[in-house]
Amino acid sequence: MKCLLILTSVALSLAATIPTSTKVDYSGFKALRVTLPKANKSTRNIEAEIEALAAHVLNPGVTEHLDVVVAPDQVDALTALVTESKVLSEDVGALLAQEGELAPVERTYDFGIQAVPSETWFTAYHSYADHLTFLNDLQAGFTNQSEIITTGTSVQGRTLTGIHIWGNGGKGSKPAILIHGTVHAREWITTMTTEYFAWQLLTKYASDSSVKALVDNYDYYIIPIVNPDGFAYTQSNDRLWRKNRQTVSSSTCVGRDINRNWPFKWELTNGASTNPCRETYKGQVAGDSPENLGLRTQVNTLRDGKGIRLYLDIHSYGQYILWPFGYDCNVVVDTDAAYRSVGAKVQSAIRAVSGTAYTIGPSCSTLYATTGASVDHIDQVGNASYAYTWELRDTGTNGFTLPASQISPTVKETWAGLVSALTSV
Ligand SMILES: [Zn+2]
Repeated sequence: MKCLLILTSVALSLAATIPTSTKVDYSGFKALRVTLPKANKSTRNIEAEIEALAAHVLNPGVTEHLDVVVAPDQVDALTALVTESKVLSEDVGALLAQEGELAPVERTYDFGIQAVPSETWFTAYHSYADHLTFLNDLQAGFTNQSEIITTGTSVQGRTLTGIHIWGNGGKGSKPAILIHGTVHAREWITTMTTEYFAWQLLTKYASDSSVKALVDNYDYYIIPIVNPDGFAYTQSNDRLWRKNRQTVSSSTCVGRDINRNWPFKWELTNGASTNPCRETYKGQVAGDSPENLGLRTQVNTLRDGKGIRLYLDIHSYGQYILWPFGYDCNVVVDTDAAYRSVGAKVQSAIRAVSGTAYTIGPSCSTLYATTGASVDHIDQVGNASYAYTWELRDTGTNGFTLPASQISPTVKETWAGLVSALTSV
């Protein structure tokens, strides 16, 4: 007995010395919006120097203002590189606390015999496993007009999982509405928003004739988390992780930016990074992330089937509605007028719900240059009639770590935007 006690106390003391989590603690870290020096004469790459000092660059690619999260002991070195800096948050750790605890799925029988997730799902954030449970539970309530779909496998072997929803024409009978969420791992509000789209389409089909019409007109393919490894990593290790978890032999840095990895115009410079340590690392070869391979294959299948009427890549933050092109600010897509018309309707519909103001325009000239981004590829190679990037709330106050209290208002106003798009395209 004494021996057992000693062993137990040894085990306890060992447990106390081994860290139980390697999760980054952002307590005391600051979020800053810094103004970059105008065209510096030297060959110094100030943005790269800032990125090396910062824990994360939140909006990599923006040419004037960078939003960064920086450890307290690096603040002085970083601000010395820039012409101006404004504090967005004095304590990123406190922002993270406002996201609340991860909550499990709650079910309700409101929509029929089979219990499906209730609307309280959209009042908290959730674990990766619970997001899969949500999709499975939702689908189980509507087996006649939905199925779980998969579109490839991640670096670490997770399945890219989504839901296919159809109406009275039957499965696969209508043009596709393709929606991706969470390609950037830290953009948690986009998981919630794309799931809300699926939840609304299915749970309102029987009771709301306008929703029924939307579902009867199209086949929906919604993948709430297209970067599952990155998303899991934001929950286990680093809340502000962006990329996937792919390695390269030439570097100890991890991760490709899946949204700089699409093949169309991938080879051009200035819209992504060739450095594996940067937030926008494009990969070694066009389309060389397994996630992109899966997504690309699905795009080709839908293109060669009933065609893609609308593609939405849901991101945060910034409140933008963006369309091609990202790769060149001087090239105008031939359907620019149609893109602008639908974009303006979506902008109005979102603003009408709770006043949230979005900026609209072509991706490169409105926000920044991007090569290998989804919308350029899916417009040009996927032959989508419309391909948009939506950057959801906010404009930097909370950034990616939107408080739990803003989930419900965000998903509702964005749903209004989706309804507007679906009735306009
Ligand atoms: Zn993003």
